[in-house]
Amino acid sequence: MKLFDAHMHVGRFGKNKMKDREIELFTERDIDSKEKMKEYMSANEIHGAVIVPHYNASFEYPFREGNKTVIDVCRSCDNVFGGLWLSPMKRFEELNNEILDNKLPTNIRAVKFSHNSWTGGVTANPRSWDNGTRETAEKIFDFCEKNKLVVHLHTGSQKSVINSYTPLVEEYGEKVRFQFVHMGNSAGGIIAFVPRFVEWLQQGYDFYCDTSGSWGFGPEWLIKEMEKKHPAGLDRVLFATDYPWGSVKAEYWKIKGMDCSNEIKEKILFENGSKLYK
Ligand SMILES: [Zn+2]
Repeated sequence: MKLFDAHMHVGRFGKNKMKDREIELFTERDIDSKEKMKEYMSANEIHGAVIVPHYNASFEYPFREGNKTVIDVCRSCDNVFGGLWLSPMKRFEELNNEILDNKLPTNIRAVKFSHNSWTGGVTANPRSWDNGTRETAEKIFDFCEKNKLVVHLHTGSQKSVINSYTPLVEEYGEKVRFQFVHMGNSAGGIIAFVPRFVEWLQQGYDFYCDTSGSWGFGPEWLIKEMEKKHPAGLDRVLFATDYPWGSVKAEYWKIKGMDCSNEIKEKILFENGSKLYK
């Protein structure tokens, strides 16, 4: 087995107030150093990976600590590529600019753009942005276009259902490449995601999705739809674990166990991700 993990998290998730309790997650699972990353890759036969920061209850953590861990680990591990945390919220302007106004660190290939962490009614819909938010978002997208970075977007149900991204795609989808992580995630999220994603690819958008955290029926349905309606889209489905939230073996068997050819499975498990992020 040869794997390219197109989205996993590094850093320390730590102790957070969640669901009315103090919960400490991932003390054993977290990867926060180059040594741990190398050990993890070799133990799980991961030949390449894209790492993004953890995000937790502290909105500043991914900027102040997470991005540093991503940059450090990328610098010292072969075939590891980074996704940096950026936000269009005004109050993070200075932290954004530390990245946007400087030379891009080695091996950075993506940006993590998570509207779940935005406040004050700001959503992924550009119509919810005031002038300052729009100015920063455009600065981030210009940076991504210039440096050919892939923008990772969370998908699920409710606030992050794929249809909620339609206005963003209409405004910026021709400028930047998006990777929709989790391909909809839940049953309802996947039902909305699959037809929408296939349509966007048919319309020529340079988009990708990853299978992490998606329910079992999702990837197989997506593959069958692509085979029927848009076979070129089979190059745009990526294996990912969302580690430490997900598990390598469970995510691997979700793809390996699908009813489709080995050629398609190999594309998803390794080839597509390694081509996109090389
Ligand atoms: Zn994730």
